Amino acid sequence: MREKPLLEIKGLKTYFYTYEGTVKALHNVNITINEGEIFGLVGETGCGKSVTALSTMRLIESPGKIVGGEILFQGEDLTKLSEEEMQKIRGNKISMIFQDPMASLNPLMKIGKQIAEVLEVHQKHYDKNELRQRILNILRMVRLPSPERIMESYPFELSGGMRQRVMIAMMLSTNPKLLIADEPTTALDVTIQAQILRILKEMKEKLNISIWLITHDLGVVAETCDRVCVMYAGNVVECADVVEIFKNPLHPYTKGLLKAIPSVNRRVEELNTIPGSVPNLINPPPGCRFHPRCSKRTEICDKVEPKSIQVSENHTVSCHLYSNGG
Ligand code: SF4
Repeated sequence: MREKPLLEIKGLKTYFYTYEGTVKALHNVNITINEGEIFGLVGETGCGKSVTALSTMRLIESPGKIVGGEILFQGEDLTKLSEEEMQKIRGNKISMIFQDPMASLNPLMKIGKQIAEVLEVHQKHYDKNELRQRILNILRMVRLPSPERIMESYPFELSGGMRQRVMIAMMLSTNPKLLIADEPTTALDVTIQAQILRILKEMKEKLNISIWLITHDLGVVAETCDRVCVMYAGNVVECADVVEIFKNPLHPYTKGLLKAIPSVNRRVEELNTIPGSVPNLINPPPGCRFHPRCSKRTEICDKVEPKSIQVSENHTVSCHLYSNGG
Protein backbone atom coordinates (compact mmCIF):
# COMPACT_ATOMS: atom_id res chain seq x y z
CA MET A 1 0.00 0.00 0.00
CA ARG A 2 1.32 3.44 -0.93
CA GLU A 3 2.09 5.67 2.05
CA LYS A 4 -0.02 8.79 2.34
CA PRO A 5 1.80 11.97 3.39
CA LEU A 6 0.33 13.80 6.37
CA LEU A 7 2.95 16.54 6.59
CA GLU A 8 5.22 17.70 3.78
CA ILE A 9 7.84 20.32 4.52
CA LYS A 10 9.33 21.69 1.32
CA GLY A 11 12.33 24.00 1.06
CA LEU A 12 11.75 25.45 4.54
CA LYS A 13 13.97 28.35 5.51
CA THR A 14 13.82 29.91 8.99
CA TYR A 15 16.19 32.73 9.92
CA PHE A 16 16.88 34.62 13.15
CA TYR A 17 17.80 38.28 12.79
CA THR A 18 20.22 38.99 15.64
CA TYR A 19 22.59 41.91 16.39
CA GLU A 20 25.52 39.69 15.40
CA GLY A 21 23.97 38.87 12.03
CA THR A 22 21.35 36.63 10.40
CA VAL A 23 21.38 33.08 11.76
CA LYS A 24 20.30 30.81 8.89
CA ALA A 25 18.93 28.16 11.22
CA LEU A 26 17.01 26.22 8.56
CA HIS A 27 18.46 26.44 5.11
CA ASN A 28 16.42 24.18 2.87
CA VAL A 29 14.59 21.57 4.89
CA ASN A 30 12.56 18.88 3.12
CA ILE A 31 10.72 16.33 5.22
CA THR A 32 7.70 14.10 4.68
CA ILE A 33 5.79 12.42 7.51
CA ASN A 34 3.31 9.76 6.43
CA GLU A 35 0.02 8.84 8.05
CA GLY A 36 0.35 6.32 10.86
CA GLU A 37 4.15 6.27 11.12
CA ILE A 38 6.66 7.17 13.78
CA PHE A 39 9.13 9.49 12.13
CA GLY A 40 12.46 10.35 13.74
CA LEU A 41 14.43 13.55 13.21
CA VAL A 42 17.93 13.16 14.51
CA GLY A 43 21.09 15.28 14.74
CA GLU A 44 23.43 17.09 17.11
CA THR A 45 22.23 19.88 19.40
CA GLY A 46 21.80 23.09 17.40
CA CYS A 47 21.27 21.40 14.01
CA GLY A 48 17.73 22.76 13.64
CA LYS A 49 15.50 19.87 14.74
CA SER A 50 13.46 21.86 17.24
CA VAL A 51 13.37 24.93 15.00
CA THR A 52 11.83 22.73 12.28
CA ALA A 53 9.13 21.57 14.70
CA LEU A 54 8.48 25.06 16.07
CA SER A 55 8.27 26.40 12.50
CA THR A 56 5.68 23.71 11.74
CA MET A 57 3.64 24.81 14.77
CA ARG A 58 4.22 28.45 13.72
CA LEU A 59 5.71 29.11 17.15
CA ILE A 60 8.88 30.86 16.00
CA GLU A 61 9.12 34.12 17.86
CA SER A 62 10.87 37.35 16.91
CA PRO A 63 13.71 37.79 15.96
CA GLY A 64 13.02 34.50 14.15
CA LYS A 65 10.98 34.24 10.96
CA ILE A 66 10.00 31.67 8.36
CA VAL A 67 11.42 33.23 5.20
CA GLY A 68 10.71 30.57 2.60
CA GLY A 69 9.22 27.20 1.78
CA GLU A 70 5.95 25.41 2.42
CA ILE A 71 4.59 23.36 5.31
CA LEU A 72 1.75 21.28 3.89
CA PHE A 73 -0.41 19.61 6.53
CA GLN A 74 -3.18 17.49 5.01
CA GLY A 75 -2.50 19.46 1.84
CA GLU A 76 -2.94 22.90 3.47
CA ASP A 77 0.05 25.27 3.64
CA LEU A 78 0.43 26.26 7.31
CA THR A 79 2.75 29.16 6.43
CA LYS A 80 -0.19 30.88 4.74
CA LEU A 81 -2.67 30.59 7.64
CA SER A 82 -3.62 33.47 9.92
CA GLU A 83 -2.81 33.18 13.62
CA GLU A 84 -6.50 32.55 14.31
CA GLU A 85 -6.61 29.68 11.79
CA MET A 86 -3.37 28.30 13.20
CA GLN A 87 -4.86 28.22 16.72
CA LYS A 88 -7.47 25.77 15.44
CA ILE A 89 -4.70 23.45 14.25
CA ARG A 90 -2.44 23.70 17.32
CA GLY A 91 -3.57 21.37 20.06
CA ASN A 92 -6.37 19.99 17.88
CA LYS A 93 -4.76 18.49 14.81
CA ILE A 94 -1.11 18.85 15.80
CA SER A 95 0.03 18.58 19.42
CA MET A 96 3.52 18.92 20.85
CA ILE A 97 5.26 17.68 23.97
CA PHE A 98 8.60 18.94 25.20
CA GLN A 99 11.62 17.55 27.03
CA ASP A 100 10.71 18.97 30.40
CA PRO A 101 7.05 18.36 31.27
CA MET A 102 7.43 20.51 34.40
CA ALA A 103 7.91 23.52 32.13
CA SER A 104 4.60 22.79 30.36
CA LEU A 105 2.48 21.86 33.38
CA ASN A 106 1.09 24.51 35.70
CA PRO A 107 2.76 23.82 39.09
CA LEU A 108 -0.16 25.40 40.99
CA MET A 109 -2.98 23.41 39.40
CA LYS A 110 -4.03 19.81 39.98
CA ILE A 111 -3.52 17.42 37.06
CA GLY A 112 -7.25 16.74 36.61
CA LYS A 113 -8.01 20.46 36.33
CA GLN A 114 -5.24 20.94 33.76
CA ILE A 115 -6.56 18.13 31.56
CA ALA A 116 -10.09 19.50 31.97
CA GLU A 117 -8.93 22.90 30.68
CA VAL A 118 -7.37 21.32 27.57
CA LEU A 119 -10.55 19.35 26.87
CA GLU A 120 -12.81 22.33 27.34
CA VAL A 121 -10.71 24.68 25.20
CA HIS A 122 -10.35 22.25 22.31
CA GLN A 123 -13.43 20.05 22.51
CA LYS A 124 -17.06 20.16 23.45
CA HIS A 125 -18.41 21.11 26.84
CA TYR A 126 -18.79 18.11 29.17
CA ASP A 127 -21.01 17.78 32.21
CA LYS A 128 -19.13 17.24 35.48
CA ASN A 129 -19.43 13.46 35.59
CA GLU A 130 -18.70 13.01 31.89
CA LEU A 131 -15.60 15.20 32.23
CA ARG A 132 -14.31 13.21 35.20
CA GLN A 133 -14.78 9.90 33.33
CA ARG A 134 -13.07 11.29 30.24
CA ILE A 135 -10.04 12.44 32.30
CA LEU A 136 -9.81 9.09 34.09
CA ASN A 137 -9.92 7.26 30.74
CA ILE A 138 -7.18 9.51 29.35
CA LEU A 139 -4.94 8.81 32.35
CA ARG A 140 -5.63 5.06 32.10
CA MET A 141 -4.77 5.13 28.40
CA VAL A 142 -1.15 6.04 29.23
CA ARG A 143 -1.13 3.40 31.97
CA LEU A 144 -0.87 5.74 34.92
CA PRO A 145 -1.56 3.80 38.11
CA SER A 146 -4.32 5.08 40.42
CA PRO A 147 -5.68 7.69 38.00
CA GLU A 148 -8.10 8.96 40.70
CA ARG A 149 -5.13 9.90 42.87
CA ILE A 150 -3.18 11.40 39.93
CA MET A 151 -6.16 13.58 39.06
CA GLU A 152 -6.02 15.12 42.52
CA SER A 153 -2.22 15.54 42.52
CA TYR A 154 -0.07 18.57 41.76
CA PRO A 155 2.77 18.10 39.21
CA PHE A 156 5.47 18.24 41.92
CA GLU A 157 3.91 15.18 43.60
CA LEU A 158 4.61 13.02 40.53
CA SER A 159 7.88 11.55 39.22
CA GLY A 160 9.43 12.83 35.96
CA GLY A 161 8.17 9.77 34.05
CA MET A 162 4.63 10.20 35.41
CA ARG A 163 4.61 13.89 34.49
CA GLN A 164 5.69 13.03 30.94
CA ARG A 165 2.89 10.45 30.72
CA VAL A 166 0.43 13.09 31.90
CA MET A 167 1.69 15.40 29.14
CA ILE A 168 1.30 12.67 26.51
CA ALA A 169 -2.22 11.95 27.79
CA MET A 170 -3.10 15.62 27.75
CA MET A 171 -1.80 16.16 24.22
CA LEU A 172 -3.60 13.06 22.93
CA SER A 173 -6.87 13.95 24.64
CA THR A 174 -7.92 16.14 21.70
CA ASN A 175 -7.37 13.31 19.15
CA PRO A 176 -4.64 15.02 17.08
CA LYS A 177 -3.48 13.56 13.74
CA LEU A 178 0.17 14.36 14.53
CA LEU A 179 2.00 14.34 17.86
CA ILE A 180 5.38 16.07 17.90
CA ALA A 181 7.57 14.82 20.73
CA ASP A 182 10.68 16.98 21.18
CA GLU A 183 13.29 14.99 23.13
CA PRO A 184 10.54 13.52 25.33
CA THR A 185 12.83 11.11 27.17
CA THR A 186 16.10 13.05 27.47
CA ALA A 187 15.54 14.08 31.08
CA LEU A 188 14.48 10.56 32.17
CA ASP A 189 16.49 7.53 33.28
CA VAL A 190 16.71 4.59 30.87
CA THR A 191 14.00 2.36 32.34
CA ILE A 192 11.48 5.20 32.39
CA GLN A 193 12.65 6.19 28.90
CA ALA A 194 11.78 2.68 27.67
CA GLN A 195 8.30 2.94 29.23
CA ILE A 196 7.60 6.30 27.56
CA LEU A 197 8.74 5.01 24.16
CA ARG A 198 6.54 1.92 24.58
CA ILE A 199 3.56 4.14 25.38
CA LEU A 200 4.20 6.28 22.29
CA LYS A 201 4.29 3.13 20.13
CA GLU A 202 1.08 1.85 21.71
CA MET A 203 -0.64 5.18 21.15
CA LYS A 204 0.35 5.16 17.49
CA GLU A 205 -1.29 1.75 17.06
CA LYS A 206 -4.36 2.45 19.19
CA LEU A 207 -5.17 5.92 17.89
CA ASN A 208 -3.71 5.54 14.38
CA ILE A 209 -1.82 8.82 14.65
CA SER A 210 1.56 9.89 13.29
CA ILE A 211 4.34 10.68 15.74
CA TRP A 212 7.26 12.95 14.98
CA LEU A 213 10.04 12.14 17.40
CA ILE A 214 12.89 14.61 17.74
CA THR A 215 15.99 13.21 19.35
CA HIS A 216 19.78 13.25 19.34
CA ASP A 217 19.75 9.60 20.43
CA LEU A 218 20.04 7.02 17.66
CA GLY A 219 19.19 4.27 20.17
CA VAL A 220 15.77 5.87 20.64
CA VAL A 221 15.34 6.04 16.86
CA ALA A 222 16.27 2.36 16.41
CA GLU A 223 13.81 1.29 19.07
CA THR A 224 10.87 3.43 18.08
CA CYS A 225 10.84 4.86 14.56
CA ASP A 226 9.70 3.58 11.17
CA ARG A 227 11.60 6.21 9.20
CA VAL A 228 14.30 8.73 10.01
CA CYS A 229 15.89 11.88 8.62
CA VAL A 230 19.31 13.11 9.76
CA MET A 231 19.88 16.87 10.07
CA TYR A 232 23.12 18.77 10.03
CA ALA A 233 23.54 22.54 10.39
CA GLY A 234 20.05 23.45 9.18
CA ASN A 235 19.88 20.90 6.35
CA VAL A 236 18.43 17.42 6.03
CA VAL A 237 21.35 15.30 4.83
CA GLU A 238 19.86 11.80 4.67
CA CYS A 239 16.46 10.08 4.99
CA ALA A 240 15.63 6.37 4.96
CA ASP A 241 13.69 3.57 6.61
CA VAL A 242 15.12 2.97 10.03
CA VAL A 243 16.53 -0.48 9.19
CA GLU A 244 18.14 0.89 6.03
CA ILE A 245 19.82 3.80 7.81
CA PHE A 246 21.44 1.48 10.34
CA LYS A 247 22.44 -1.15 7.75
CA ASN A 248 23.46 1.10 4.92
CA PRO A 249 24.20 4.68 6.02
CA LEU A 250 25.52 6.76 3.13
CA HIS A 251 26.21 10.31 4.24
CA PRO A 252 29.60 10.72 5.98
CA TYR A 253 27.86 12.57 8.83
CA THR A 254 25.35 9.74 9.38
CA LYS A 255 28.22 7.25 9.30
CA GLY A 256 30.07 9.34 11.89
CA LEU A 257 27.02 9.47 14.17
CA LEU A 258 26.56 5.71 13.97
CA LYS A 259 30.24 5.03 14.66
CA ALA A 260 30.02 7.21 17.77
CA ILE A 261 27.47 4.84 19.39
CA PRO A 262 29.12 2.61 22.00
CA SER A 263 28.55 -1.12 21.46
CA VAL A 264 28.84 -4.00 23.91
CA ASN A 265 30.09 -6.21 21.03
CA ARG A 266 32.99 -3.94 20.09
CA ARG A 267 36.08 -3.40 22.22
CA VAL A 268 37.49 0.04 21.63
CA GLU A 269 40.04 2.14 23.48
CA GLU A 270 38.23 5.34 22.62
CA LEU A 271 34.83 6.09 21.11
CA ASN A 272 34.79 7.52 17.60
CA THR A 273 33.99 11.18 17.39
CA ILE A 274 33.32 13.53 14.48
CA PRO A 275 36.19 16.06 14.45
CA GLY A 276 35.38 19.77 14.68
CA SER A 277 32.13 21.31 15.82
CA VAL A 278 28.80 22.45 14.41
CA PRO A 279 29.43 25.58 12.28
CA ASN A 280 28.31 29.09 13.09
CA LEU A 281 25.11 29.56 11.10
CA ILE A 282 25.63 33.30 10.68
CA ASN A 283 28.42 32.45 8.27
CA PRO A 284 27.87 28.81 7.37
CA PRO A 285 30.53 27.07 5.30
CA PRO A 286 29.92 27.42 1.54
CA GLY A 287 28.98 24.41 -0.55
CA CYS A 288 28.31 21.41 1.66
CA ARG A 289 27.93 22.69 5.22
CA PHE A 290 29.62 19.52 6.52
CA HIS A 291 32.77 19.91 4.41
CA PRO A 292 35.10 21.34 7.13
CA ARG A 293 34.52 18.15 9.17
CA CYS A 294 34.30 15.61 6.36
CA SER A 295 37.13 13.16 5.70
CA LYS A 296 35.65 12.30 2.28
CA ARG A 297 35.41 15.81 0.87
CA THR A 298 36.48 16.45 -2.69
CA GLU A 299 37.24 19.61 -4.66
CA ILE A 300 33.61 20.38 -5.41
CA CYS A 301 32.44 20.09 -1.80
CA ASP A 302 33.28 23.62 -0.61
CA LYS A 303 31.94 25.19 -3.81
CA VAL A 304 28.65 23.53 -4.70
CA GLU A 305 25.81 22.70 -2.38
CA PRO A 306 24.85 19.02 -2.81
CA LYS A 307 21.29 18.27 -3.93
CA SER A 308 19.13 15.54 -2.45
CA ILE A 309 19.58 12.35 -4.46
CA GLN A 310 17.17 9.43 -4.47
CA VAL A 311 19.39 6.37 -4.13
CA SER A 312 16.59 3.84 -3.67
CA GLU A 313 12.83 3.88 -3.16
CA ASN A 314 12.98 5.00 0.46
CA HIS A 315 16.48 6.42 0.73
CA THR A 316 17.71 9.93 -0.12
CA VAL A 317 21.08 11.54 0.57
CA SER A 318 22.58 14.99 -0.02
CA CYS A 319 26.24 14.37 -0.79
CA HIS A 320 28.38 14.79 -3.92
CA LEU A 321 29.76 11.27 -3.46
CA TYR A 322 26.45 9.93 -4.80
CA SER A 323 25.68 12.49 -7.50
CA ASN A 324 26.85 10.14 -10.25
CA GLY A 325 25.23 7.03 -8.87
CA GLY A 326 27.67 6.64 -5.93
FE1 SF4 B 1 31.57 15.20 2.56
FE2 SF4 B 1 31.47 16.36 0.18
FE3 SF4 B 1 29.61 14.63 0.85
FE4 SF4 B 1 29.71 17.01 2.01
S1 SF4 B 1 29.29 16.60 -0.15
S2 SF4 B 1 29.41 15.07 3.01
S3 SF4 B 1 31.89 17.35 2.15
S4 SF4 B 1 31.78 14.21 0.58
